[in-house]
Amino acid sequence: MHPQSPILFLLAISLLLPAGSAAPPPQLKLRAATFQADATPFPGEPLIWVKPAKIVLDPLRAKGIIIEQGPDRYVMCSVDWCGIGGEWHHGLRTAMARAAHTSVDRVALHVIHQHTAPYADSDGYRILDAAHRPGLRLSNRFMATLTNRLSAAVRQGMKRLQPFDQVGTGQAKVDRVASMRRVMDSNGKLVTRWSTSGKDPKLAALPEGPVDPFIRTITLANNGKPLVRIHFYATHPQTFCCDGRVTADVVGAARDAVEKEDEVFQLYFTGAAGNVTMGKYNDSSEEVQRELAGRLKQGMEASIAATQLHPARPVSWRARAFDPPRKPMPALYWTTGQKPSDELDARTANAAAFAMRKRPLEIQYLDLGAARILMLPGEPMLEYQKYALSLAGDHFLAVAGYGEISPGYVCTDEAQREGGYEPGAGFTDIGTEQVLKDSIRAIME
Ligand SMILES: [Zn+2]
Repeated sequence: MHPQSPILFLLAISLLLPAGSAAPPPQLKLRAATFQADATPFPGEPLIWVKPAKIVLDPLRAKGIIIEQGPDRYVMCSVDWCGIGGEWHHGLRTAMARAAHTSVDRVALHVIHQHTAPYADSDGYRILDAAHRPGLRLSNRFMATLTNRLSAAVRQGMKRLQPFDQVGTGQAKVDRVASMRRVMDSNGKLVTRWSTSGKDPKLAALPEGPVDPFIRTITLANNGKPLVRIHFYATHPQTFCCDGRVTADVVGAARDAVEKEDEVFQLYFTGAAGNVTMGKYNDSSEEVQRELAGRLKQGMEASIAATQLHPARPVSWRARAFDPPRKPMPALYWTTGQKPSDELDARTANAAAFAMRKRPLEIQYLDLGAARILMLPGEPMLEYQKYALSLAGDHFLAVAGYGEISPGYVCTDEAQREGGYEPGAGFTDIGTEQVLKDSIRAIME
């Protein structure tokens, strides 16, 4: 631009900036669609980690949502599985991204973490394959079937996109479901309250602890009519495991019952629940399991009833690499001279795969205006959810844990120093807390 042609200069500026550029841009059209695929393993396929599936009590599902804003699409999917990691996690995301005509970083894949379901990290499987270990692994045939089903479900969803103009937020306290897993016994010693520890009166009597008692629900609606409810609640969801029965457990029962009554598609994500279980309240009897499902259902219903709808605003999605310090390469179980165990083979292979991992993990964040969603990998401890909520202030924030399962438990540094089950079963090291908190703060900014 020649400094002597001010009129040309102004003309050029006026071409670059439309008149009234201080006004907000016209809102891009928002649309959404839900999708669902069967994720029940074939008979004989392994549940966590190597237990063959014998009988299906109820089907496992992969349920999700596609959100579209103008040319951009975002996908969130939640599966009734214990865990999925490695190339398979990436592969399922890639398949959904292709079906939704979007990029992989705009697809979030989480599990609910039921223990009556598969736990598969294909990076660990590669190590077991190379060492010719005998343990049962989820088959490529089943994974190919699941991949095809999910991508078909997303493609179908793309044909059913419907406009939405409201985002609803609601929350309610869930009564007597979540309890802290790491508790001090009467002698001041750190003990683990497992998911079925309610059988032991001493462990049942210990306090619930500082759980996050709220179930949070986000609703997308069009002119007052809800299209989908998305629930978030932080507890390990299992009430039993490891006997060959396949089920979506109490979360599946509550979600399905609410879906039937509400006549709206229900999605559920487990929050940062690495150190939270139903252990205080679960004696593993069928009656108590029904009661737990009933109380979770009541929480969902109360959260739906408390929902207030807000006008939808432009949405944004962020993804960020997360590369925490890792524990050193473990001795592979089959080289240690101990009693042969397919389960311990699988667990140390997963630990080794994470120690050698090249691709960083990812954190994702969806800002829906009135509601925000933080999505974390592994089994993050509840402290990370509380940290994110403290940053959110008055904004409505929901947290989903259990994205790619590969790091296992993502502990606080204090827990790493205290020891106990989770630090021993997690593959990230001291120093993770700072890296994760920095990443959470950066993505929420
Ligand atoms: Zn767990």
